[in-house]
Amino acid sequence: MPSSSNRVLVVGAGPVGLITALGLASRGVPVTVIEREPALTEDLRAGSFHPPTLEMMAPLGITERFLKIGIKVPRWQIRDRHTGVVAEFDLGLLADITPHPYRFHCEQFKLTPIVYDLLRQYPHAEVRFACGFESATQDGNKVIATVTTPQGTETIEAAWLVGADGGRSNVRKTMGVDFPGMTWPDRFLVTGTRYDLAPHGFTPNAYIADPDCFSAIFQMPYDRPPGLWRVLFSITDTGVSDEALMAPDNVERLMQDLVPRKVRYDIVHTGIYKVHQRVATTFRQGRMLLAGDAAHVNNPLGAMGLNGGIHDACNLYPKLATVFTGAADAALLDRYVRQRHLAQVEFVQELSTRNKKLLEERDPTVRAERLDEVRRIAADPALARDYLIKTSMIASVRRAEMVE
Ligand SMILES: Cc1cc2nc3c(=O)[nH]c(=O)nc-3n(C[C@H](O)[C@H](O)[C@H](O)COP(=O)(O)OP(=O)(O)OC[C@H]3O[C@@H](n4cnc5c(N)ncnc54)[C@H](O)[C@@H]3O)c2cc1C
Repeated sequence: MPSSSNRVLVVGAGPVGLITALGLASRGVPVTVIEREPALTEDLRAGSFHPPTLEMMAPLGITERFLKIGIKVPRWQIRDRHTGVVAEFDLGLLADITPHPYRFHCEQFKLTPIVYDLLRQYPHAEVRFACGFESATQDGNKVIATVTTPQGTETIEAAWLVGADGGRSNVRKTMGVDFPGMTWPDRFLVTGTRYDLAPHGFTPNAYIADPDCFSAIFQMPYDRPPGLWRVLFSITDTGVSDEALMAPDNVERLMQDLVPRKVRYDIVHTGIYKVHQRVATTFRQGRMLLAGDAAHVNNPLGAMGLNGGIHDACNLYPKLATVFTGAADAALLDRYVRQRHLAQVEFVQELSTRNKKLLEERDPTVRAERLDEVRRIAADPALARDYLIKTSMIASVRRAEMVE
């Protein structure tokens, strides 16, 4: 049934909400984005982008701008903390199937201003800050959302509502959709130093296996070369407070254990995260939809969280625009759900969990077997190509496209 309302309401001006809104606006759909915070957030979480993500954002004009401010990373490593490089992968092996045969490093807080800037060029798009989604009701015709603003509570009516409001999504809770899965017992401490790790043999992206404290390294653009080397440490000791873990002397100890040097590290930031593996049971209920972390969360090993969220956004906006204009039945949106749910369960959740297990394995025999397997894959170009197709998320996108 066509709606009496003439716009789509997107909840959350994170990268997934803004990209969904930009896609809709580019198709002529009036769109309102509401964001609880007073401005775009300076989120340090995501920083590594895969080839299909760059390809999907290109038609919206994002990729061309984004590529100017980050670092192309054609090679990445899996290492053992004590013995060094186990395997090095070259994304150049995929040059015949993607125009972007590299991982691309740039902070997510530099992506959102690009998308916001592009979105503001559409007169039928608006972004309202300091406007938090509280709840919503829907009938066959429209959604009515209750929001809080500094001026008080108000309601916004929309034909469709997209919840892109992150892992703790109020939209998902309003929909009554379950979020089954688990929370990992360890915490991830993420820090950043200006000290250049490249002379120590690290590629700009490296995963370092260690049963006691595995790590991951991402070189990021920053105010001057060599940029910022972000280092993630898994912390298994549950008895230490977040404050004690983030204390400068503790961060220094972790860095010195990883790459010893005679002088103290120049630490730029430190943060701590709990990570989860969860997928919402459905991404649609009537006129309300979920995308990004609101629909699924995973550990960051393999950098698939935001990438997967952008894949949701770029799958959803053409379908929703078609349904909005009445050119297709709302059942088309169930295809979005089937495609993206499958990509999450069969690929993102599976691969990110496997990546974590590879890095943290404690049994010496299993650990040696798994690292040998990775070594064998990297040494064989055909196997390495298949592996890169999976780890670059090309396989998940291809598989989802096959789902009717
Ligand atoms: C340490 C770490 C490293 C990571 N690295 C990577 C990586 O390299 N690559 C990758 O792909 N992923 C990575 N991720 C995951 C990535 O950060 C998330 O998947 C991504 O931020 C999800 O984007 P989103 O837009 O769905 O949600 P968010 O970025 O969480 O944005 C949600 C927005 O909604 C707003 N909001 C929330 N509630 C409301 C409300 N009630 N009303 C209005 N607005 C609301 C929030 O303020 C926020 O602006 C990493 C995660 C962690 C923890």
